[in-house]
Amino acid sequence: MSNVIETKQCWRCDKVQKQTEFFTRYNEMRNDRLNICMTCIKEESSITGESQKELIGIYKYMQLNFRDKLERSHYKRFWLKAV
Ligand SMILES: [Zn+2]
Repeated sequence: MSNVIETKQCWRCDKVQKQTEFFTRYNEMRNDRLNICMTCIKEESSITGESQKELIGIYKYMQLNFRDKLERSHYKRFWLKAV
């Protein structure tokens, strides 16, 4: 039997989690989920002091604008600059 629970790997913590742990870009034609899990968003929020809403906005922007060239390293590099 196949696994019916859809999972996705977070590009920040590398954990494979249920799709529901990831924020969906509802405003896009394709309902892609962000490559970062909500746990990481919360963690980033506490480290950087940015609101979760703001962080989600940034990641949405990243995923939209770097769709074809998005790499795992973007998730790390981006926050190294901010911290
Ligand atoms: Zn994560």
